[in-house]
Amino acid sequence: MKVSCRRKSLKLDIPFTISRGTTVERQVLIAEIEHEGVIGYGEASPSAYYGDSIEAAEKAIRGTEALLAGPEIGRDPYALELIASGLGREFPLSPSGRAAVEMAAHDIAGKLAGLPLYRLLGLAGMKPPLTSYTVAVKDVDLIRGDLDRLRSFPILKVKLGFGREENLLDFLSGETDAVIRADVNEGWDAGTAIEKMARYQEKYAIEFFEQPLPRADIEGYKMLMAETGSTVFVDESVTSREDVFRWAGLAHGVNLKLMKSGGIREVLAMVTAARAAGLKVMLGCMVETSVGISAAAQISPLADFCDLDGNLLISNDPFRGVRGAGGLLDLGELPGLGVRPSC
Ligand code: MG
Repeated sequence: MKVSCRRKSLKLDIPFTISRGTTVERQVLIAEIEHEGVIGYGEASPSAYYGDSIEAAEKAIRGTEALLAGPEIGRDPYALELIASGLGREFPLSPSGRAAVEMAAHDIAGKLAGLPLYRLLGLAGMKPPLTSYTVAVKDVDLIRGDLDRLRSFPILKVKLGFGREENLLDFLSGETDAVIRADVNEGWDAGTAIEKMARYQEKYAIEFFEQPLPRADIEGYKMLMAETGSTVFVDESVTSREDVFRWAGLAHGVNLKLMKSGGIREVLAMVTAARAAGLKVMLGCMVETSVGISAAAQISPLADFCDLDGNLLISNDPFRGVRGAGGLLDLGELPGLGVRPSC
């Protein structure tokens, strides 16, 4: 198996603001693994927040060739568990780099079998939940011209935690009929959260609040569970199956992402862990091309909620694949991840 990768700078349609800052473009890596003429595509969208970087991801992707050719895997494209565990052992510092290689390996396996990945994984007949569309702006004026697009999505996920929130929530609840979910990205303390969650729940019927408090604020989450009637998800707090069990009883659900957890196999294990721990499952994403989004979409029938819109937020997606237009994730019948280069 030959492994290569290239960098790509993704341009955001609208500057993307969360409680920790604003992004106008994002660097990702597109990985290609070639096996007997079949090309598998993968993507790394690394996040410094999780200790990852474009350099670490590139090192992981480029360093994979020896692992795939080694005696354990022996270039067998169906050795998906061994590929995942080998990547975890060799490249612990780059979950997104591992995710890219694993995606490409799953893409090859699906293409060789002539099956879309969801069918290969036994998920035929199950429907993915609708995906939300993310609104991540400081200023309402940035989205006034984008109302047609916003109105085409039945669910909006609104980033909060950086002030002027109620302007934005007033605007969205007045101008659209969408269900509103809130993602605070650790932007509140427990006292603020208890007050705001009650008020916003009452005024805007927020479906759930994601990561209202800092990721390690266990005592704060205990307070939210005891003192609010709102549904709480954690995202930044959870990157592994062990984390999922740690958060049982401290939140109602977990947001799982390929890029922070190292790929499809770990996220599948996390889904099982979450079910055993009585937690709801959301499948989320970073700003990504259609490669990463399609990989996540292929396992999305296992989720209760989806936030797979990273490819809808960029203007230069180099691939075509699963897109959540109108919130609907159509997995299609193309083999593997269901992606093709767009030019
Ligand atoms: Mg989040």
